[in-house]
Amino acid sequence: MQHFPIFLAVAGRRIILSGGGDAALAKLRLLFKTQAHITVFAPRPDAQIETWAGEGRLRLIRRALEPGDALCAVLFYAADEDDAEDARTVALARADGALTNIVDNLGDSQFITPAIVDRDPVTIAIGTEGAAPVLARAIKADLEEKLPSQLGTLARIGKTFRKAADALPFGRPRRDFWRAYYFDAGPKAIAAGEDAVQPALESLLHTHLNTPRREGHVAFVGAGPGDPELLTLKARRALDEADVIIHDRLIAPEILELARREAVMIDAGKEGFGPSMTQSDINALIVEHGRSGAQVVRLKGGDATLFGRLYEEIEAVEAAGIAWHIVPGITAASAAVASIGQSLTKRGRNASVRFLTGHDMKGFADHDWKTLAAPGQVAAIYMGKKAARFIQGRLMMHGAALSTPVTVIENASRPDQRVLETTLAALPADLSDAQMSGPALTFLGLSPRAALATQLPGELQFEEAL
Ligand code: SAH
Repeated sequence: MQHFPIFLAVAGRRIILSGGGDAALAKLRLLFKTQAHITVFAPRPDAQIETWAGEGRLRLIRRALEPGDALCAVLFYAADEDDAEDARTVALARADGALTNIVDNLGDSQFITPAIVDRDPVTIAIGTEGAAPVLARAIKADLEEKLPSQLGTLARIGKTFRKAADALPFGRPRRDFWRAYYFDAGPKAIAAGEDAVQPALESLLHTHLNTPRREGHVAFVGAGPGDPELLTLKARRALDEADVIIHDRLIAPEILELARREAVMIDAGKEGFGPSMTQSDINALIVEHGRSGAQVVRLKGGDATLFGRLYEEIEAVEAAGIAWHIVPGITAASAAVASIGQSLTKRGRNASVRFLTGHDMKGFADHDWKTLAAPGQVAAIYMGKKAARFIQGRLMMHGAALSTPVTVIENASRPDQRVLETTLAALPADLSDAQMSGPALTFLGLSPRAALATQLPGELQFEEAL
């Protein structure tokens, strides 16, 4: 982020603009949304600016900016549409201590003005750092359509009621109240006129004060393989409603970004081989928050029911008498197989598919190697990187062909996804050369679909060099 968004207090403060033409008019229309004192310097101002000055909406000084004119101004806009004059006025304004902007000149501006969706006091600022003004406009249009025009009024009236609403316990009860106001009772009341809003708030508060307190609850939620678009709608809703989110190390930051801002985030940081919170610490943490009455989301990578020690956590929660449920997610194998354009099962090749783990708590995991070594078998091996040589050895011992296709997909569904196509014979060496540091899934018996790379340019990044 090269530009950090902030909301600047400008009420009663000075904003100076130099310029009297079209650029100045456009900027002034925007500045009139504020309660700042606006002064315009223009030797030949547009008639509209003269009118505004006559109406007292701005102060007009009919000459070019001079040193000292921008003293005590918070913001300065250079809108003369003349490079030399803009550079001159900006230098003066900076010397006077104002933050400066040159209209349509990102590089020489100290700040830029975002696209604004105005539902005062609810204000949404959209910026693209100059990269895509069209995109900013499209987002703005989209939001303008989505947000009720009365939202600002609701917020203004809501603000006056905050103290009264403090009678509700902090956290979920208070949040539920405001949610019901903004998305249900408020819009309904305002349809009957502004005067109906206050009584609606009072009756809503009465209802909520008399609602019994919600019990704590734990949702075991699968966060999918990493791409936020692979979250289920239920997972999104759970993130949106959670008081506490206890998440795995595997969860992508883009997904955590979607959580409710006020939610307490706890990184349970369990890592395959590294230092981590112990499972009993995690169980205790989940129980502690569930007991306190919180809506807890236990967020696990992929699907919560696969290689996630879900059972132990459920037993702890159940023993504490806390209600729970599971929200299924897309497991890494599903994302990985999609990325290589293959199907997990295929008529005539494999009628079953196995999900294995490369290692368990005791070390490398043992499996039915004899069956796995037979031709046509397909297995998705989780946590298989470190166990590659062990797996190769066991399979070969049971007669697996050296040419058996093996594909390793690192960071499936993420922007940094990599695909390593190899064989059972070359697996350990190729894997070590590839130096994969992200989560990787190993497919035994599958190779990427040959035509895929050319069919979908840009969709897939096959690492030919690996
Ligand atoms: N519950 C998870 C698996 C947890 S075990 C799921 O259903 O996906 C952790 C292992 O999952 C990692 O070691 C890796 O083998 C695999 N994994 C998780 N996310 C992955 C991803 N985006 N790409 C490839 N493998 C992934």
